[in-house]
Amino acid sequence: MDLLKNKILSEGVVLSDNVLKVDKFLNHQIDPELMVEIGKEFHSRFKDTEITKVLTLESSGIAPAVMTALNFNVPAVFARKRKSLTFTDDLLSAQVFSYTKQETNMISVSNQFIQPGDNILIIDDFLANGEAAGALTNIVEQAKANVSGIGIVIEKSFQSGAAILKEKNYRVESLARIESLSNHTVTFSGGNE
Ligand code: 5GP
Repeated sequence: MDLLKNKILSEGVVLSDNVLKVDKFLNHQIDPELMVEIGKEFHSRFKDTEITKVLTLESSGIAPAVMTALNFNVPAVFARKRKSLTFTDDLLSAQVFSYTKQETNMISVSNQFIQPGDNILIIDDFLANGEAAGALTNIVEQAKANVSGIGIVIEKSFQSGAAILKEKNYRVESLARIESLSNHTVTFSGGNE
């Protein structure tokens, strides 16, 4: 997706050989026009598939997930990282090791919002080692629903997540695939043109 790749090249900051900061348009400040286009792009890639809900993880997955759900005319649900006084339903939970925070968190979704037989499109902002996406697939499977696909805004293809998810036969569609962040430079799979 050229619009996204250009945004990464112009506004992304390479923090290390492994970490890209995109808080000008995705992780802190959000570019709504880019999110609209991301929603359309995920819709065009998955429109041949039955989708009844979009599932993501708070907080950075919410904007692309909502725009995608709008195109499919289905609800978006986000897994929550913290318990709150109002979050008392029967919960589907899974552990996720956060790559950027280097800590393990429990993520949870009320079983009201994912029902047996639902066809779930999982959306997330980044794919690194596949922990977050793996935990979301675990929650979908606990609910006896189906994973229709996994849509990733930015895949770091040099980390293990994409290979792990594809080995498990999930369909993964990534809008930008980064081959390397070496030398403080973003190099996309297939080149930067
Ligand atoms: P994974 O669970 O696949 O190891 O990592 C994906 C999660 O970690 C994403 O939900 C994202 O929040 C965070 N993450 C992983 N790598 C990066 C990165 O390079 N930059 C940013 N901003 N977040 C990342």
